[in-house]
Amino acid sequence: MTRSISIFGATGSIGDSTLDLIRGDRANWNVVALSANCSAEKLAALAKEFDAEIAVVGDEGCLPELRAHLSGTAIEAAGGEQALCDAARRPADLTVAAIVGCAGLAPTMAAIEQGRTVALANKESLVSAGHVMTAKVAQYGATLLPVDSEHNAIFQCLQGNDLEDVRWITLTASGGPLRTKTLAELDAVTPAQAVAHPNWSMGAKISVDSATMFNKGLEFIEAFHLFPVGLDRLRIVVHPQSVIHSMVEYRDGSTLAQLGPSDMRVPIASALAWPRRMDTACKPLDLPAIGELTFFAPDEERFPATKLAREAAHTGGAAPAVLNAANEVAVAAFLAGQIRFTQISAIVARTLEHYAPTAPQSLDDVLAVDAEARVHAGAMMELA
Ligand code: NAD
Ligand code: MG
Repeated sequence: MTRSISIFGATGSIGDSTLDLIRGDRANWNVVALSANCSAEKLAALAKEFDAEIAVVGDEGCLPELRAHLSGTAIEAAGGEQALCDAARRPADLTVAAIVGCAGLAPTMAAIEQGRTVALANKESLVSAGHVMTAKVAQYGATLLPVDSEHNAIFQCLQGNDLEDVRWITLTASGGPLRTKTLAELDAVTPAQAVAHPNWSMGAKISVDSATMFNKGLEFIEAFHLFPVGLDRLRIVVHPQSVIHSMVEYRDGSTLAQLGPSDMRVPIASALAWPRRMDTACKPLDLPAIGELTFFAPDEERFPATKLAREAAHTGGAAPAVLNAANEVAVAAFLAGQIRFTQISAIVARTLEHYAPTAPQSLDDVLAVDAEARVHAGAMMELA
């Protein structure tokens, strides 16, 4: 049976992987909306290839270019934040949330408020909104399918089990490209070194997050909301081969793990086909070629991000949104060559110390905390 799909962040790394799967299973999908921030030429080409109903650019300034590329077609073009939310409200069997950063929050919430099934890659939106988002999911009967490889692994390992029987949920972390560097070496790391991930090919922001371990910190908070077993039953282990994508240990001593190649098409396919399975062109796992799986405890002295995230999760309220916003600002500054690698976590820590707003109760509250935290993080950067 044909299903309809909308993809927000269609021109990014997750967007590419999703559309690659749809391309291979073309007869079964109807594409409703595709979005990008700007990338008008690429977005228009995708909208034409997949015969989308509408293409939307988040940056309204890119709309004239999008219109020009789509002229002579029946595909609608729109631009701006409101247009993203309007597109997210259009009926679709599945909405893929793959915008990077808190910028993806409003369209994701718009889809949730229509009771949609959302394949969630955009972890920053759940980290920032937390209970505001999960409450809306419950209120509108929406479904969140985790696309993040760790959370997709946990989701699969939990099938047929009861959360009450869970002893531990263990998120695996590759440790990123800088795992073995000393603090002094970390201080001198360039953006090019930080984004050169050994196992995964991803967008620039999440690549830096993997290098700082903020990615795992954000994922810790993401897991707390997706799988409510309590913070004390979540832990992180470094596993450089990225073969085990995460695991669940039950009270009888059984540990279930999900293994697979380091290819995001595997977890995305699991969300696309859920609750069934679909074919992918991914290389099968070759365990003899991999040889060894190793595990280490995280080093929170060299990589304080997971500690900061755990503390923010314990503090609750607005703290995770502040942590996320400060990290987005610091990562952008690092990529622009304005701050050193080790300053990223220092700026996040200082922003959390100086800005502790009350707990957000609505989407508008979350967006206000996010905006204000960015200003505070900017000020901390001046001091850095
Ligand atoms: P990316 O940078 O490759 O792509 C981001 C997409 O979002 C692009 O389509 C871009 O045009 C759009 N976008 C960026 N800023 C926007 C804005 N302000 N408004 C509207 N659209 C905007 O990023 P990615 O690597 O594909 O990651 C996307 C999300 O998925 C992130 O939240 C990331 O943490 C998560 N994720 C990614 C991977 C991965 O392997 N790439 C794995 C797990 C989770
Ligand atoms: Mg992940």
